[in-house]
Amino acid sequence: MLEKIPQEFIRELVYKTDIVEIISPYLKLKKKGYNFLAHCPFHSEKTPSFTVNLKKQFYYCFGCHEHGNVIDFYMKFHNLKFLEVIKELSIMHGMEVFFNNFFKKKKNKYKKIDILYTITKIACKIYQENLFLNTNKNVLNYFIKRGITENILKHFCIGYSDSNIDFFLSRFLKKKQDINNLLNVGLLIKNNQIFFDRFQERIMFPIRNYYGKITGFGGRVLNDSSPKYINSPETLIFSKKKQLYGLYEVKKKYSFLEYLIIVEGYIDVITLVQFGIYRVVSILGTTISSNHLKTLFRETDTLIYCYDGDISGKKAAWRALTKTLSHLFDGKVVKFIFLPKNEDPDSYIKRYGKCSFKNKIKNSVSLSDFLFYVLLKKINLNSIDERSKLVVRILPLLSKIPSKTTQILMKQTLLKKLGILETYRFFLEKNKKIILNNNYEKKFLKHTTLRILIGLLVQNPCLSILVTNMSNLKSKKFLGLSFFLEIVQLCQKNYNMNTGQLIELYRHNTRFAIIKKIAKWNHMIQKKSEKTVFLDALKDLERKILEYDYNILLKKERLHGLEHSEKLALWDLNKKLYMLKK
Ligand SMILES: [Zn+2]
Repeated sequence: MLEKIPQEFIRELVYKTDIVEIISPYLKLKKKGYNFLAHCPFHSEKTPSFTVNLKKQFYYCFGCHEHGNVIDFYMKFHNLKFLEVIKELSIMHGMEVFFNNFFKKKKNKYKKIDILYTITKIACKIYQENLFLNTNKNVLNYFIKRGITENILKHFCIGYSDSNIDFFLSRFLKKKQDINNLLNVGLLIKNNQIFFDRFQERIMFPIRNYYGKITGFGGRVLNDSSPKYINSPETLIFSKKKQLYGLYEVKKKYSFLEYLIIVEGYIDVITLVQFGIYRVVSILGTTISSNHLKTLFRETDTLIYCYDGDISGKKAAWRALTKTLSHLFDGKVVKFIFLPKNEDPDSYIKRYGKCSFKNKIKNSVSLSDFLFYVLLKKINLNSIDERSKLVVRILPLLSKIPSKTTQILMKQTLLKKLGILETYRFFLEKNKKIILNNNYEKKFLKHTTLRILIGLLVQNPCLSILVTNMSNLKSKKFLGLSFFLEIVQLCQKNYNMNTGQLIELYRHNTRFAIIKKIAKWNHMIQKKSEKTVFLDALKDLERKILEYDYNILLKKERLHGLEHSEKLALWDLNKKLYMLKK
């Protein structure tokens, strides 16, 4: 029965399930750095040694060494079987219908989804080719005039849907796909048995999800006709309130994001990236959803809203503030950039340049400043009535904030503004420092090159993008190498996976235990040096393999002499080794 649940389904299930959310009703979790700490439910103890890592979606007890992802926790804590857990989680996320369908052998949603992703990929390719047709030279000129380079066009896979729908269809049908699926992804409209192109004569911006799959398109006209922009309609794979344009691209560039700027349109993202401001995503409009916020706060601790400099942009910023309050957990920060009247990020950076925009980022307004600015604007602080009116308005807002520390700090600011701080005594919660017994931190795996590589990769699957020369390594027989390459491939295929999801791929595999062990391995490498260490280890691995080949040839030369081609190979290896040592 197991193999009937598509991996894609389980992956989505693990992604949707936040391990901290699942565990927190049962255990009292305390935030500590990247981790949460609690008393272990699986052994009795006085000092908490049970840790939950939000980013890795993984738990580990330093006392009894119990560990795993969200599914493991559920199985162990509630004493359930794997399938029962999958069913529970499906119900929790409203996905139980699909779960039940797997067992009725119905055509399931996930197969359909996979097909639709293939369709959008094919269409995207055709739109990209269109850019370079002689008949569409005006489109390329349009980009040149706007200063958009070919690199940027490629980076965002931008294309063009021209007026020749028959030519489009003839190329599409060559891929042996059902034409009706073009209706299902919203690219075509059917009227009286005739197909129409929804995006005719529009520049096409493919919108990619977290994993790099194209879920829909945005289309922009070349001239001033209206509507200027249209998006794909809501489909099985496209839902506007979930899309974050540019997130896939920025995640590909950075494994760690110190902040993310949120803008309205995809043009804003593209122009900012073109100017070298990479940490930017668009929510395709001004409405930020809980879905967006959950995803974004998983990637970064600091969000900076940068809406258009018009009245609706300002109003949207306020709405975003109130929406964000309930997502402000400890350590999460929200800021705002306000642009001059009638400027959007695209026009602003073109007019004032990168430095000026960077200054805007540096001097962005804190959430607390913006909040008090708006609320105090209309209030006369000398009037007792108005002061109490302010308190009535502000307290419900502050109570939405889940972080107690942030809440207390903002209440202090409020009291300061009201001039009555001295009459109240505020105590921050005493931050009891929990010092873990050093014995727990001992290394229990030795540091060898491949162990470091595998360990860092399992704990940070996004490092896989750094491995580029896989084909060189494939034929080599080194202990652990094939395992490493296998994980690299899995991570590259399932882009943006977290550790919990990676482990899940191994559940019914003989390597399940070892990969879980690696996930909790304390490699003692500092977070900020992980990328450098990983790159160094990769280089070291490459060198070791070259040396190995080199020594074999050298030995043969001494014993039997070498053939001409082998001599060339030896010379080549020598050169490569020299280059690596440089
Ligand atoms: Zn324990």
